[in-house]
Amino acid sequence: MEVFEKADTVSKFIDKLKAEGKKIGFVPTMGALHRGHLSLIEAARKDNDIVVASIFVNPTQFNNPNDLKNYPRNLDRDLKLLEDNNCDLVFTPSVLEIYPDENSKKSEYHFGKIVEVMEGKFRPGHFDGVANVVSRLFKIIKPDNAYFGQKDFQQYILIKTLADKYLSDLHIQVHRCPIIREKDGLAMSSRNVLLNPEQRKSSALIAKTLFWAKDNYQKYTVDELKKQIADKINADKNLKIEYIEFVSDPELDEISNWDSEQKIVACIAVQVGDVRLIDNIYLSLS
Ligand code: AMP
Repeated sequence: MEVFEKADTVSKFIDKLKAEGKKIGFVPTMGALHRGHLSLIEAARKDNDIVVASIFVNPTQFNNPNDLKNYPRNLDRDLKLLEDNNCDLVFTPSVLEIYPDENSKKSEYHFGKIVEVMEGKFRPGHFDGVANVVSRLFKIIKPDNAYFGQKDFQQYILIKTLADKYLSDLHIQVHRCPIIREKDGLAMSSRNVLLNPEQRKSSALIAKTLFWAKDNYQKYTVDELKKQIADKINADKNLKIEYIEFVSDPELDEISNWDSEQKIVACIAVQVGDVRLIDNIYLSLS
């Protein structure tokens, strides 16, 4: 497995592989890897000749400085995991490599409604940071395929829009992979290691409540279901719901009744002590 820290070196290396006709699959990550990330590597492995991962904790997408400071990092462990999972190449740039000056930190994209709801509403500036870093990484790696998790559903919609609307000349196919969960249902997340044992136990209630909602949503109105979900989550003293929204896939339209012909996704954000977790589930696929 090759490891690169410099953008121009990795770009040249990949350009050569592409000139040889190799198909490049790309999995951007912020490290602290878990089985969710490895499922994306596996998906990339199936469709491509060369699998490229990046590990970069992107400071511009953190709206909370403590979240950035506490974000788990373990490069040696991550590199070993990637090597053991048949990744061919890893890009591990420094912050200066991605953002050589202040100007490079500004996003030039406009996404409208898709960045105004849910994560966009509660994490101001977050999606500008995501769009900017993914655009920079896409321009460096120039993959044929890129893989993202449904765990970050709104982020996937943003990146699909970025690739199709703003970076169409790069011809990148953006793929979405299912949420990988722990045995008790908790969606895998790098932040889960920050939970203490009691918080970790309580956090299983997030997925449990979403599974319950999927099985029962038609018994309630939209507002009643939101209240039911919030009450169930907030009944645990370690959990505090930040939002629960029902939106359409891929438009992110707010759903006001279940008669909608659209695919409906229930999206949730929950504060567990200092750790903020998100999850989602399809209520309806029609
Ligand atoms: P992150 O390192 O958190 O930025 O995540 C990198 C990629 O892994 C993103 O596309 C995430 O959506 C994806 N990912 C994170 N957690 C999971 C999970 N539990 N299942 C599937 N994909 C995930």
